[in-house]
Amino acid sequence: MVQRDENWVRLFRQYLQYQIHVGLTEVLLPAAGPDRQLSSPLEAVREELGDCTRCRLHRSKTTIVFGEGDPRARIMFVGEGPGADEDGAGRPFVGRAGQLLTKMIRAMGMDRSEVYITNVVKCRPPENRDPKDDEIACCMPFLEAQIRAVHPEVVVTLGRIAASALLKTTDPLNRIRGQFHSRGDIPVMPSYHPSFLLRQEPDRRPKAEAWADLKMVLARLGLPIPGAGDKL
Ligand code: SF4
Repeated sequence: MVQRDENWVRLFRQYLQYQIHVGLTEVLLPAAGPDRQLSSPLEAVREELGDCTRCRLHRSKTTIVFGEGDPRARIMFVGEGPGADEDGAGRPFVGRAGQLLTKMIRAMGMDRSEVYITNVVKCRPPENRDPKDDEIACCMPFLEAQIRAVHPEVVVTLGRIAASALLKTTDPLNRIRGQFHSRGDIPVMPSYHPSFLLRQEPDRRPKAEAWADLKMVLARLGLPIPGAGDKL
């Protein structure tokens, strides 16, 4: 119980540090009431994001796709941005690529609800283009706040854009994937985006490499390595 309380104190401290980082100088508390509950750190990040218009991507989106999953997940997956299916559903990774990601998570012996899934930008870029540097810069504080709030033991980046945004590198993905990099106190495993894996079919080598990345994540967490990933 003491450990659980300490965890909340740590998360709340991280949230306040984020508020200072974005320039907040005053904290407004909600009106007290018997039914009023304080937001969790992750909910607080969502509230801070609000109906965001901080970059031009707000014009091309239908819905902000914030992220979903266990707010205390051990693994966080980060893609680049919502596509058409995700924009329609308001949920990350629900289209064809999302179905492959779900399959990969199951192959790890886990359920989607046990991990946390989000993207670098929360609004769909028009025509599914790559998010631009200034759009990424606008949205990054929210991804960083999500990472602080969930505080996963490993972040898995999916694709080049998520890896370069989080690791602040221009190195090609094939040079940095398959090994852990550090980002503060959280190890980051860059891997392929599931839509890239789908585009490479029927070549099975990229999927085998992605599964090798995920096996390293399982080993790092001391989790058993199921054989199901060999059939992805
Ligand atoms: Fe705001 Fe991020 Fe959407 Fe840009 S992409 S409008 S910063 S939520």
